[in-house]
This record gives sequence, structure tokens and C-alpha cells, in this order.
Amino acid sequence: MDKKRVYTFGNGQAEGKAGMKNLLGGKGANLAEMNLIGIPVPPGFTITTDVCTEYNELGREKVVQLLQKEVITAIESVEFLMKSKFGDVETPLLVSVRSGARASMPGMMDTILNLGLNDEVVEGLIRKTGNARFAWDSYRRFVQMYGDVVLGMKPTNKDDIDPFEAIIEEVKHAKGVKLDNELKVEDLKELVQKFKKTVKVKTGKDFPTNAYEQLWGAICAVFNSWTNERAILYRKMEGIPYEWGTAVNVQAMVFGNMGDSSATGVCFSRDAGTGEDLFNGEYLINAQGEDVVAGIRTPQQITKIGSQRWAELAGVSEEERVAKFPSMEEIMPEIYQELDELQTKLENHYKDMQDMEFTVQEGKLWFLQTRNGKRTGAAMVKIAMDLFRQGVIDEKTALMRVEPNKLDELLHPIFDKEALTQAKVLTRGLPASPGAATGQIVFFADDASEWAAAKKAVIMVRIETSPEDLAGMAVAEGILTARGGMTSHAAVVARGMGKCCVSGAGALRIDYKARTVEIDGVLLKEGDYISLNGSTGEVYLGEVETKEAELSDDFAELMKLADKYTRLQVRTNADTPHDAMVARNFGAVGIGLCRTEHMFFEGEKIKAMREMILAENIEERRIALAKILPYQQEDFKGIFKAMEGLPVTVRLLDPPLHEFVPHDLKGQEEMAEAMGVSLKYIQERVESLCEHNPMLGHRGCRLGNTYPEITEMQTRAILGAALALKKEGVVTHPEIMVPLTGILREYKEQDNVIRAEAAKLFAEVGDSIDFTVGTMIEIPRAALTADRIASAAEFFSFGTNDLTQMTFGYSRDDVASFLPIYLEKKILEVDPFQVLDQKGVGQLIQMATEKGRAIRPELKCGICGEHGGEPSSVKFCHRVGLNYVSCSPFRVPIARLSAAQAALED
Ligand code: PEP
Ligand code: MG
Repeated sequence: MDKKRVYTFGNGQAEGKAGMKNLLGGKGANLAEMNLIGIPVPPGFTITTDVCTEYNELGREKVVQLLQKEVITAIESVEFLMKSKFGDVETPLLVSVRSGARASMPGMMDTILNLGLNDEVVEGLIRKTGNARFAWDSYRRFVQMYGDVVLGMKPTNKDDIDPFEAIIEEVKHAKGVKLDNELKVEDLKELVQKFKKTVKVKTGKDFPTNAYEQLWGAICAVFNSWTNERAILYRKMEGIPYEWGTAVNVQAMVFGNMGDSSATGVCFSRDAGTGEDLFNGEYLINAQGEDVVAGIRTPQQITKIGSQRWAELAGVSEEERVAKFPSMEEIMPEIYQELDELQTKLENHYKDMQDMEFTVQEGKLWFLQTRNGKRTGAAMVKIAMDLFRQGVIDEKTALMRVEPNKLDELLHPIFDKEALTQAKVLTRGLPASPGAATGQIVFFADDASEWAAAKKAVIMVRIETSPEDLAGMAVAEGILTARGGMTSHAAVVARGMGKCCVSGAGALRIDYKARTVEIDGVLLKEGDYISLNGSTGEVYLGEVETKEAELSDDFAELMKLADKYTRLQVRTNADTPHDAMVARNFGAVGIGLCRTEHMFFEGEKIKAMREMILAENIEERRIALAKILPYQQEDFKGIFKAMEGLPVTVRLLDPPLHEFVPHDLKGQEEMAEAMGVSLKYIQERVESLCEHNPMLGHRGCRLGNTYPEITEMQTRAILGAALALKKEGVVTHPEIMVPLTGILREYKEQDNVIRAEAAKLFAEVGDSIDFTVGTMIEIPRAALTADRIASAAEFFSFGTNDLTQMTFGYSRDDVASFLPIYLEKKILEVDPFQVLDQKGVGQLIQMATEKGRAIRPELKCGICGEHGGEPSSVKFCHRVGLNYVSCSPFRVPIARLSAAQAALED
């Protein structure tokens, strides 16, 4: 038998189920599942994601042929259940055609509603419903959507106006009305006729009247939309492969626009912004589904409490709220109760927060969609922990539910409270996506991208956003819209991105042409600063200082749970006491890498360092080193103290020398004077230090081996600091690390210098301290000869930045010239400097660990390259049995959670 391409559902039966997401897409799989668990869903069918792939390979004609029989049979079964007929005048069946990929891609692809209408069918629909306004409104929406999406009439240029919108404006103007819903039946009829005329003019063809012709057009348009620009961009951002394809869902229409007993809405079983366990959502009376999401009318709240909270934020009095913006709970109490029961049922069934779409047609509730809701990082943690405490999921599931990378958002800045008291509130919108953002106003996505590329912080200000704005939203600090609610495009997308967003700020008067926005009498231009609080909806004038986030108890509890399962330890890369403290507060259990060259970036220290590098001979170098020693010792004391009781790996100097010498005349003159030498000498010395390949040049232990006095000074500073602290009763565990080892001999030389200097110091002081000496493994030769190196080194730390550089042969400093093209061409899937290359570099790590431990079973192995805070790389480190990962302070929680997940995945 030919393969099955179409799966039907309806009336409590379904050929698919929730587990078939890959084949049916998220929406299709859940529509099937909802049927199976007794949720009222309009009948329909899903065309599989495989067909999308066939469509892209074989083309339209062939695929329509392949689908023909199954689609017609499926339509017949919908006709049977709906007691109506597709294309029939007397009992017409209308359908919706929607996309639905494996992963949700909100608003990225196309949808067509009310399909099946023509000039005769619309009359039949009027006879059947007795509602001419509804029928003509549905018809004009259909022609508009079909024209835009299927016939390609939607403008691609931001300055062009949608031809259909232009006609609506023209007719509204002629009739002297402001709102769409003030148009009369006759006006709507006129719109349809004008729309169809425009179609004929622009496409050269009549608007299709045959229902099946319309259907095939719509199905193919959905497949086409898989490869539209915004879908491609979204996939790139979310890492969704092209090969997945989208399914197409064809479903009997139910109507939320049949009068005042009809409605449509979107709801969440918990708060997607904060995670609060509170049913919430928005609805519109007498409207069609897309109206809520499109942000064209600002919707009302579903629950009474939500409505009251909204009114408070919007400054609307209780009387006005009840009169003008009542909740669904208040005006449709029975439907509300059913909705509430079913949302609870869905959440319990899926054991996660649900994002649902529904329609009420003349008092009957239908669910159109459910999916696990997108949420902010804070909500993600709270929901996982709440569901665990409520006994819905176990602790392991709770840990696996949290996406490590999304924790990053929790660590995002909030406004400095003090600065906030000084700031002027311009207006308030809806708190659509939490966080604090400050930046310069831009109105268009292109400008946002351009300005952001020039390192400007921008806030994107729009009347409403649409998927075309995605690229701009991605680079903006925050998003502010005049229209649209909590489920508007801007809100949903911003939350997914973890980006601060304030939506529906009605006081904004935006003039795109003049590039200005007026807010309650204050006129702001493009480039002016504003600040947004996505947690309260407040909009501030000017720049408001931000500060680091405060972490919730749920976060702390989650981290505690993580530690219960983790085997891999998490240390941090830190060069200052402040960074060390931040990391320690995030749960780091030591420092895996303290880069000593970073300690010389400022003031007198850089001068002493330059003197050391520029010195002509060993005597002069020793003089410069003697100046550096007290600075170094103080710095180490600070770090050891911050990390009291925990191990601290201090790496000996590994500077690319040319970065530290002055290249400008002023700096060179300054050094000449400080060192009492001629300018010419300094210039020659700087010149001679320049290397063609500094990354492969005189750095790492090559420096320590050519100038052992540097290693001596550093050893003295490290152990001197530890001894001084010992006197104060502070316990330290110094680990001295030799960088860039490639040959056993060069390591041994350094080891000898360190131990000799330590012995000398201990004798001088009359006291000693325990310490270990080990090496970085960051040169392929070191990994290949790891057994030999382990015969002398007490620990290994994989420097995967250099190891990646030298394994691939890509210069860390110059990779940007070709990497983007490699990624685009898929020669590389990901940037190997961000995500560990497990097949190549990973193999070296695994082999070196095994070889090293064969000689020294207790050999402690860690990683301290950038990969130490990247989830998939952390999981790899767990699997190959490393002892720890070390990452930047703000990545510590991410690494801890990844480590726990790795253990659970075992
Ligand atoms: C590394 O190479 O991975 C490393 C941690 O050292 P650096 O980045 O300082 O070269
Ligand atoms: Mg390195």
C-alpha cells in the first residue's frame, strides 16, 4: 500500500496521537490527542511533515496528485461529522488551513480561514445562519487572506501598503466610519467586490470560486511558507532544521464572529511571564482567531482577577472596567467554567503549562489548539518547581524540564532601585515580557539591525509587530508596542527570546514617516533614549541604570536539586575577587582558571608589566619583576580569600606579548622615560616583539622557559599570598598551572623552577603550604603524549580554546573572516569555539584523560575553555569522566544544571 499521508481526527476519534509530533507537527499531534481525551475539537485532518519534504523535492503538481484521494476522503469524513458539504451552497462546509511544524514557530508561517466561500456559498451561509453581516465579514476576510498568502499579494516592502487594507481604509473613509466593525453589510459586500477586482488586476486571474481549487492553493501555500524569509530566520535562531518540514492542518471552521454569544481567545494554564499558578488569557467577543494574536484590537482578560490586575495597571476604574472591559468570567460564566475545567484537564494530561486557543460559536466552546507554552526563564524555573511540589512531576522531570541556556535570562539585569526613583514614567503598557531594558528608539527592523551592529543599544518601538520585524526584535534590548495584548505577536515572540517587552501602550502616537513617537505630550525622535520595565509595563524617559538580577528561592531550590544528582563539579574562570565572589554565590566550588595576565590591564601594573617585557636583559627584567611581585601577591590574596577553603588554579603568565606593549607614540615615550632609555630603543623592542603568528608564538610556558625568573616571581606571589593568609587563619588550596605545554621536557623544566622557588620561599618564611602543580592540555601534542606528561603533572586542565584552534588549524583571532560562510553553507553546523567539537577535539580530550589516568589514576581532569559553560559540551565532559568544568561566573548555574541533566541522562 502507498504510504499514509493524511491523518484524520474528529468526534472523539483520531488516527494520530500526541507522540506523533515528528510526523504530524505539534499542532496536528495535539489536535489528535485532544480528541482522544474528550476535548471538543472541530473535526479535520493533518497532512504529514513528510509531504512537505516531498513537496520541496517533487514540486506542487506531483504532490497534489499523490494527496488527491486521501484529501478528498478526509474532507468527506469532515462533511459527515459536520453534516455539511464542501463547496455546497445550501449546507456549506468551510475550513481553515494552518501550518504546524514539529517545534512551534508562532506567526512564522501562513494560515487561511473561511476557505470554501464564493458568491453563491456566501448566500447559502446567510440563509443557514441568518447572519448576513457575519457571512460577508467572513467572506471579505477570506478573500483578503487568500489574496495575501496564496496569491502572493502581501507587500514585501515595508513602505508598501497591503492593497486590501488600502481598500478598507478607502471605503471606511467614504462611509465616514472609524472602526472595521462599524461597516454595514452593504459596505462589506462592496469590499469583497473591490477585493476581487484588485486580485484580477494584480494577478491577471479571477479569484478562484471552486472550493477544491481554493483548498489546493492553500495547502501548497502553507508548504511554501516553510521556506519564506521569516520562517528561515526563525529556524536559524531556534536551531530548527530545514528537513523537519511543516504539516498542514485542515479543520472545519467554527466561528467566533457570529455575534455577541461568540468569542475567540488565547489562554495559558499558568502565567507565561512569571510562572504564577494562575489561569489567564485574553479574548474578544465577536471576533475571529487571528484578531487576538494579530494585535489589531486590544483584547480583554478571561479571568476576573486578570481583568482587575489589568485595570489597575492601565489606570482604569472598577466601574469603567466592568462596563467596558469585563472579563469572560463575568459575562460568559458558564462557558468560562467549562473553559477552566478543560484547561485544567489539559495541563494535567500534558503535565506542563499549556498555551491554548479556543473559539466560542454561539455559546458552544471549541478548542483549536493546545501546546506546551513558551515561557520566560523565570517562569520556566517556577513552573517546573511548582509542578514538582504539586506532585504533577517528579524531581528528575523537574530538572530535565529546565533548559540550561534559558537560565541566562534569570541573570539578566533589572533596574537599579535608586535610579528608578529618579526616572520619569512616560506611560504604562502591558508587562508582556519581564526584564529591564534601556536604549535608543528605532522604528524599523532594518534600522535596529544596523544600529545594533554599530554597538548601539536600541529599543524597537512599533504600533504592533509582525513576523517581518523579527530580525530587529532579535537584536533590540527591548520592544515597545502601542497595540496588542499579552498574547500579541510582540509579547509571544519576546518572551520566547527572553527579551524585555512592553505591549499595548495605548498612549503612544507613532509617526513612522517622521520617525517620532509622542507620548502624552512628550515628543521623542529616533535615537532618543527610553527605558522599559517588562515586568511592570512602565516606560521611562531617558536612560535608567540597570543592575544584576536577584535570584528567586525557586532558583536556589532547583540548583540544590541539581547538586543531588551531579557528579561533575563546576568551577569558575575568574581573575578578580569580585568575579570570584559572584561565581561562588552562583555555586562555583573553586576556580578552574585564574588568568594572571588579565591582572595587568590597568594603571601602574601595566607599566611594570611593560617594563618587564621591554627589559633588555635579565637584570633589568628582575628589577621590573620585583615591582610586579607585590601587586601580584595582593591580587592573589584577594582571590584566595574570596575562595576561602576552595581550590584555586592559578595559571602562570600566558600573554600574547604584543598585546601588552605600547604601539602608540605617547605610550612609547612614556615607557622610554619610565625606563630611562631612548624612544628608539622602545620602538625597536616593540618591533622585535611583533610576531606573524602570535597565537603560535612566544607565549605560555615558552615564556616561562625562556625567562624562568617570571615563573619564579609568580610562584613566590602565589605561595606568598597563601602563606600570608595562613597566618590570618584563611585556608587556601593553591594549584599552579603551566600553560601551553606540548613537550614533557618543557613542563618538567617549569615544574623544577616552581618547586625550587617554593622550597626557597618556605625556608625563608619558616612555614609551608600544600600545593599542586599541573598543566593545561591545549596543544594537540600534549593530548597525544598525555601519558608522558601525566608522569610529571599532577592535574590536567583542557584549554579547549587553544585546543580547538590548533586541532582545526583555525586562528582564534581570524576565524570571523570565514566562519559565517562555513555556517551558512553548513560546512560547520556550529561554531566550534562555542560548542565543543566532540568528534575531533572531544576525542583528544577523552584520549588524553584515559592516557593520563593510566599512569596516574587519581589525575584530576577539568576543562577551562569557553566550552565549560555550554550545555552540550558540559554533558560531554560528564560522559568522558572529567572531574570538573570551569566557566565564566554567569554560566555557573547553566553548567550546574547541565551537569545534573548529564547525570540523569546516563
Ligand atoms: C584555552 O585555551 O582554552 C584557555 C582557557 O586559555 P586562553 O583562552 O587563555 O588561551
Ligand atoms: Mg589557552
